[in-house]
Amino acid sequence: MNGLKERIAALIEQEGPLTIADYMTVCLFDPAHGYYTTREPFGVEGDFTTAPEISQMFGELVAIWLYSVWQAAGSPRPVCIAEIGPGRGTLTKDVIRTLSQIDAGLARDVRFALVEASPRLTQVQKKTLAGSPATLEWYRQVGDLPQLPVLFVGNEIFDAIPMRQFVHRDGRWRERCVGLSGDGELAFVQGPGEPDPSLLPADAGSAEEGSLIELAPARSALMDAVAGRIASDGGAGIFFDYGHLQPGYGDTLQAVRRHAFDDVLARPGEADLTSHVDFAALSASAGQHGLAAHVATQGDFLIAMGLRERAGLLGRSADAITRERIVGEARRLAAPDEMGDLFKVLAVTPHGLVPPGFAGRD
Ligand code: SAH
Repeated sequence: MNGLKERIAALIEQEGPLTIADYMTVCLFDPAHGYYTTREPFGVEGDFTTAPEISQMFGELVAIWLYSVWQAAGSPRPVCIAEIGPGRGTLTKDVIRTLSQIDAGLARDVRFALVEASPRLTQVQKKTLAGSPATLEWYRQVGDLPQLPVLFVGNEIFDAIPMRQFVHRDGRWRERCVGLSGDGELAFVQGPGEPDPSLLPADAGSAEEGSLIELAPARSALMDAVAGRIASDGGAGIFFDYGHLQPGYGDTLQAVRRHAFDDVLARPGEADLTSHVDFAALSASAGQHGLAAHVATQGDFLIAMGLRERAGLLGRSADAITRERIVGEARRLAAPDEMGDLFKVLAVTPHGLVPPGFAGRD
């Protein structure tokens, strides 16, 4: 057993099974052994590669989106651009570079905020952004951001926020937990918790025996904080993640280690733990603050924002090998059989502001 697994097993012996949300929290954020607190997850050397790490084009198109929305919102100054969960800081770096090319004065005036829960990743971000002429600030949570119009951006942040699972047995929904098997190994068990009935879909009472549903109040709370801030101080937000447009039944909790799926219980703290994001639930949270939610697939969005044209431009003066690499990166980001369909993008804006990239849908 690794050190964290032993500690989790001891905790379960003392206090009983952990909810999936508590298990995710320990695995990802334990100060001594947590995945985000101790590991270097990103890139070829790490466990998974995210869109901004695949290509600079991702951050460039996000910057163009942020600039368009800033203009559509009446070009407020001062303004803050806040990335939530910035990982290595690559997306913010690409956004600053692109914004400096579009409007150098604005790039100088923007307060760039990085909202990061992991002290270790905060240090990595400071390194990535060292030497940047932009104004950079770090915060632990959205509530600490300055009271200004904020343009939020987040890539693969909601999937890393813990969620809870419930299983339908004998006509009741009971919480799925992590407990101990007879031989002392971690195992999924039924816990005593029951879901808040108002969070269940209308047909939940007639769900099949053994159906599993995932509810993520902590994700809705993060969207609440974001949407509340936009509603009171102005701004907008754009979030990319893998997930589904409509809520559904099924277990999507997954562990990824060294670019392959791993057993969720086998190596706590050594693998990334995530689950599909329910975009309908996040849109509903934004709606409660009077904001409009716009959703598209990542592929449709990036192509509407000019991915093909950007790839063509970057490749024009490059050699054949580089051109091939750029085409490959664009394919990874947008092709339906790569990230294009699985990943979705959610923009939250004040009503009446039609953001680019969403085919005008409100
Ligand atoms: N956006 C980056 C990293 C994605 S991984 C990329 O695309 O490469 C998730 C990131 O969110 C990590 O930086 C992790 O430490 C951070 N994170 C997780 N929960 C968070 C929270 N509640 N608040 C702020 N950051 C969080």
